[in-house]
Amino acid sequence: MPPRQAHSAPRVGGAAKLQALQRAILTLGFVRPGSLVRRYMACGNRSCRCMARPPRLHGPYYQWTYKVAGKTKTVRLSEGQAQLCREWLRNHKQLKRLVRHMEQLSLRETDRILGAISRQ
Ligand SMILES: [Zn+2]
Repeated sequence: MPPRQAHSAPRVGGAAKLQALQRAILTLGFVRPGSLVRRYMACGNRSCRCMARPPRLHGPYYQWTYKVAGKTKTVRLSEGQAQLCREWLRNHKQLKRLVRHMEQLSLRETDRILGAISRQ
């Protein structure tokens, strides 16, 4: 758990929070949507180890899946490719999180700004 500073630290204004989010976005590298799946499979050959008891499955195999226009696209990846993808996928998740925070902050701040302007 991170140290708690909520009570001692000075209140950070909306503009400073917005700048912090913008800076965080600038540090991100490639952002790749979709998700990575690691799977083990049986080949179906009766004499193979994957059909033994207990089974020893083949793999790991890596797949990147991504939804395009409602359809799921699947691409097989090597272990090296999967390693690279992991960081890009993490960056994409982080970007979405930052954008969500930016929206929440902006809603709050713009409501405040609009509220401060008296209606005609
Ligand atoms: Zn097999």
